[in-house]
Amino acid sequence: MKAWQHFRTINHHRFLVMKGCFKVGLYRQGLLHDLSKYSPSEFLVGCRYYQGTRSPNNAEREEIGYSRAWLHHKGRNRHHYEYWIDYSTDPKEGIIGMKMPVRYVIEMFIDRIAAAKTYRGSKYTDSYPLEYYEKGVARLGRMVHPETAQLLHSLLKMLARDGEEETFRYIRGKVLKK
Ligand SMILES: [Zn+2]
Repeated sequence: MKAWQHFRTINHHRFLVMKGCFKVGLYRQGLLHDLSKYSPSEFLVGCRYYQGTRSPNNAEREEIGYSRAWLHHKGRNRHHYEYWIDYSTDPKEGIIGMKMPVRYVIEMFIDRIAAAKTYRGSKYTDSYPLEYYEKGVARLGRMVHPETAQLLHSLLKMLARDGEEETFRYIRGKVLKK
């Protein structure tokens, strides 16, 4: 059991997200981000499959075929697009991603930066979150609402081009002011 390391990883991640959220004015979300990771359903799994370089959820999936911790997490945390997957009112469409409120798209954006910093360490650059997103985007299909995907993608491109300070300033002044 890597309880101490896992506890520190969560705290470190939450601290990075909090700093980002505070810079754009999302104080409440900054304080409450990922709190469900301290619940037994998520915390104990995280300790058991602690990896250090990637999410423990991946290790749990490999072992039992799915991740109980992740299913618990994505059902409770609105900054994950998976939280917003639901039946369309149009029966022909089936299950699709609903449009996310902008403040949660911003939290998701900051979450991705924080995760990239943690797992990449000194190899992190401002263009890495964009590269990571573009590598996986084709697999998202209709799980992410087009307007949500468009906003996230445009912010990731801005981050790669103009850096974090500039992008956070734009989010605070323009994106969240609307
Ligand atoms: Zn989360």
